[in-house]
Amino acid sequence: MDSSPTTPYIGRFAPSPTGPLHFGSLATAVASYLDARRCDGRWLVRMEDIDPPREMPGAAERILRQLEAHGLLWDDRVLYQSQRGEAYLAALQQLLDRNLAYPCHCSRQQLKERGGLHLLRCAPQGGAEQPHALRLAVDEQSDIGFEDIFQGRQRQSIKLEVGDFVLHRKDGLFAYQLAVVVDDAFQQISHIIRGSDLLDSTARQIYLQQVLGFPQPDYGHLPVAVDAKGHKLSKQNLARAVDEQTPSLNLWTVLHWLNQAPPTALCHSNPEQILSWAVGHWQRQAVPQLLHLRAPALQTPPSAG
Ligand code: GLU
Repeated sequence: MDSSPTTPYIGRFAPSPTGPLHFGSLATAVASYLDARRCDGRWLVRMEDIDPPREMPGAAERILRQLEAHGLLWDDRVLYQSQRGEAYLAALQQLLDRNLAYPCHCSRQQLKERGGLHLLRCAPQGGAEQPHALRLAVDEQSDIGFEDIFQGRQRQSIKLEVGDFVLHRKDGLFAYQLAVVVDDAFQQISHIIRGSDLLDSTARQIYLQQVLGFPQPDYGHLPVAVDAKGHKLSKQNLARAVDEQTPSLNLWTVLHWLNQAPPTALCHSNPEQILSWAVGHWQRQAVPQLLHLRAPALQTPPSAG
C-alpha cells in the first residue's frame, strides 16, 4: 500500500486500561493489525495507563490476554505509558524553555465563560506552588490539513477551533495529547489506525509533532461502534467485554462489520486462519466511510454456507 519506501511501516494499538476490550476496541485492534501486516509492517501494543482515576484494576492484563486469545500477537515488548514520565517531562521542559508552554490557573468556570476556548496566555497569577495546568501557546497560523485513510480530507484551525490546549493537567497528570505524540515518535509509528472519536484530536497531535520536530504518521479513523441508541460502546459505560472463549466468531463478526466480506465458512476456522485470510484480503477502501456504525450482536454465528 502507500507507505513510503524509505519509512518502514510500524503500526500500533494503544488501549487505555479503563476496562476490558469490547466489540469496538477489538475492531480497532483488528484493523490496525491487518493494515500493518498487509503492508509487511510491525504492530506494537502500547498501554496508555497515564490516568489512574479512570483505570480499572486488572484491565491492562485482561486486554493483553484478549488480544492473545484472538491471535493478535504484537511485536516487541508492550510499552507502558506509566513508565514514560521522564520522556514527557523532557518534552514539556523543552516547550517551556522555548516559551511555547505556559502555566494556567484558570478554573473550569472561567473557561466556560470564554466559550471553552483558551486563546491568550494567562496573566501571571498565583504562585508556582498553586495547582496549575501547562498549556501550549498555539500560533495564529495553526491550520492543519491531512488526508485520512478512511475519512478523506480533514482540516482544523487549532487556534480558532481548539485554542491553547493542555499538555499537563492541573491534577498533576500528563495530558493524552502530549503523551501520545511523544510515544508515537519514540516508537517510530508510521501509521495510526484508531477510532473516529480521536479524529478531532489528530490536528492537535500533528501540530505538536511540528512544534517538537517529529515526523508525521499517516492517520486512518475507523467508524466508532455504537449501540441501538447511538451511544458509543465504551469501557467506561461498561460495554460488554468480548468473550475470549469465542475468538473465531468475534473475529469473523469484526471482519463483517469492517465490510471485508469474510466467507461464511471462515467463522469455523481458528483465529490464526481467520487472520491469515483477513491479511490477504484486507481492503482499506471497503471500510465504511462513517464516523459511527451500529455494533452487531455477537452471539449468533452466521448460518453455515
Ligand atoms: N488510549 C486511547 C483510547 O483507548 C487511544 C489513543 C490513540 O489511539 O491514539 O481511546
